[in-house]
Amino acid sequence: MSYTSRLTQAIIDLDALVKNYQYIDSLASKSNTIAVIKADAYGHDANKVAHALSAKVNSFAVGFIDEALALRSAGITNTVLILEGPFKESDFDLARKNNFTLMLHSEYQIQWLKSIRPEFSGDIWLKVDTGMNRLGFHLEQVDRIMAQLSINQRKDLVLCSHFSTAEQIDNLKPVEQLAKLTQLVSKYHCKFSMANSAGILNWPASHGDHTRLGLALYGVSPIGETPLSQPLIPVMTLQANIIAIHTVKVGETVGYGDTWQAERETIIATVAIGYADGYPRNAKSGTPVFLKGKVAPLVGRVSMDMITVDITDVENIIIGDSVELWGKNISIDTVAQCSDTINYELLTRVSKRVPKVVAE
Ligand SMILES: *Cc1c(COP(=O)(O)O)cnc(C)c1O
Repeated sequence: MSYTSRLTQAIIDLDALVKNYQYIDSLASKSNTIAVIKADAYGHDANKVAHALSAKVNSFAVGFIDEALALRSAGITNTVLILEGPFKESDFDLARKNNFTLMLHSEYQIQWLKSIRPEFSGDIWLKVDTGMNRLGFHLEQVDRIMAQLSINQRKDLVLCSHFSTAEQIDNLKPVEQLAKLTQLVSKYHCKFSMANSAGILNWPASHGDHTRLGLALYGVSPIGETPLSQPLIPVMTLQANIIAIHTVKVGETVGYGDTWQAERETIIATVAIGYADGYPRNAKSGTPVFLKGKVAPLVGRVSMDMITVDITDVENIIIGDSVELWGKNISIDTVAQCSDTINYELLTRVSKRVPKVVAE
């Protein structure tokens, strides 16, 4: 362990992670629930997350093959689905050797597949574009793509698509997208995968053979305030410590740009976390933090390494006290709203400088 003087940390609750997985998995009990751990497990440390889940899940999913190779180096032996598929022809070789499942979404990947000798025998998924218009073959291309696959390659093929609005329960687009995919599924007698977290929770008909569970695994709801039969437990607590306390008089300002001005005599705590740690620079004055059992507002601009908090109404605060920026007391959704962004972005942007520490 290297020396750490600063106590800014993301505490990772692996028990909560496992509970969230088991709960969501139980909601889609006929499907294989794939744990999506791309982007360093949404900022939670993919190694730690994969080890905590490896005995409980069949497969993991990551964005690209580099992330999957890192899991193998860390001793993870589960199958790994590569959501963006091969970026290079040589990725097929690595996929075969390492038991990675490749998503194929574009013609150039099919050309690579066809040129490989001996024939590529690893698992493949075909991504179909049902309305997201980001990745995947158009419906009318699928016949031609299928015809280029060998019998073996078609045998265990999974047809996959992705919702663009699964979190909106009163939107009809998810129903249309699912109908497009299931039409192909009946035609080719393939397995299918459609649902991300919001799909699992909002659209049971989309569960299919494999679901792809990302955000909700980390205890963050993709469907806002909508109540679930069991609450998700936030896995990450982002915390930092107070390194200075001072009093400002009425009329004085705090932080860069003088954007906040004291309307009463105010006690300000300076906390050792800033936008270089992934705390959003956009967080407005008033964004809540949690300390000594109470909520207090951020005031002034977020700096690179520090934030300032109005602690006038919180008693007995001393230097060194710990502050929660988000976690079990401050919802990351609230911080996201105060920063004009979304929970996904906040989680994945916690920077390398912040140690990820497993909760006791
Ligand atoms: C990231 C990702 C997921 C997981 O989505 P969540 O909303 O985090 O559950 C599922 N499928 C694909 C293709 C993805 O890229």
